[in-house]
Amino acid sequence: MLVIHRVSKEYGVGASRVQALCSVSLSVARGRFVALMGPSGSGKTTLLHLIAGLERPTTGTIQVGEHRLDDMAEEAIVRWRARSVGLVFQFFNLLPGLSARDNVALPLQLVRLSRRDRLRRAEAALDLVGLGERAAHFPRALSGGEQQRIAIARALVSNPEMVIADEPTGELDAGNAEAILGLLQVLRDRFGKTVVMVTHDDRALRYVDEVHRLDKGELLVDERPASPPERGAGRVAGSDGGAATGAATGATGATGAANGAA
Ligand code: ADP
Ligand code: MG
Repeated sequence: MLVIHRVSKEYGVGASRVQALCSVSLSVARGRFVALMGPSGSGKTTLLHLIAGLERPTTGTIQVGEHRLDDMAEEAIVRWRARSVGLVFQFFNLLPGLSARDNVALPLQLVRLSRRDRLRRAEAALDLVGLGERAAHFPRALSGGEQQRIAIARALVSNPEMVIADEPTGELDAGNAEAILGLLQVLRDRFGKTVVMVTHDDRALRYVDEVHRLDKGELLVDERPASPPERGAGRVAGSDGGAATGAATGATGATGAANGAA
């Protein structure tokens, strides 16, 4: 569903020219959980921005479903992104002056819905990440792990097909990092989302379907850490249990079990 073909990205001109990506080709099937890894400055964030339509490639093509992002008109891209992409960042990027519920409802400003429907959908997304009871709280009253779960609810509220996360566990301790990785896995297993995540976190290897490594703007050969039985275990555990928190915990547990077996 996501096909990146010989994409290059250059910033700047003349002496300040930077080649951030160099002829990168990559396909990601729908419903896959993919990690992008690589040293700082290797082009990971640039690639995520291209996939989200936040920037254009200098050369090459990017196809998401039936949409060619590289030659789409700017306003069409903005509309496409509002419907199709949920973004999660390292530093959560919640607005401090808004409650959790209003933060989560924010992307729905771009969708034609009444305020009441927007808030109802925001509450459903908060339930999904296990924070329904914190809807009225402001970001400063929430821990880092909770803020990132709120940010994931915000990424989901428009029911996008793709979730794009840039180092989502970078600011979290081990326990919260695992909870976030488990939650991203649940998005794949219960809702069939495609998740593309930049990470430096080796814990992520136990959660993802595939890893792609960038170095100096070039993509290296991919690896496949998760064998099919591990995915199966994650999906079974993720689909039982009503509450999203239960499902997230289940998925984390299943990953631990699969790891033990490996
Ligand atoms: P990573 O996320 O892997 O650390 P980035 O994609 O942020 O790497 O950056 C790749 C390269 O492109 C770096 O050399 C960086 O300085 C450069 N770069 C990124 N964004 C810009 C920009 N807006 N203008 C100029 N150079 C940029
Ligand atoms: Mg980066």
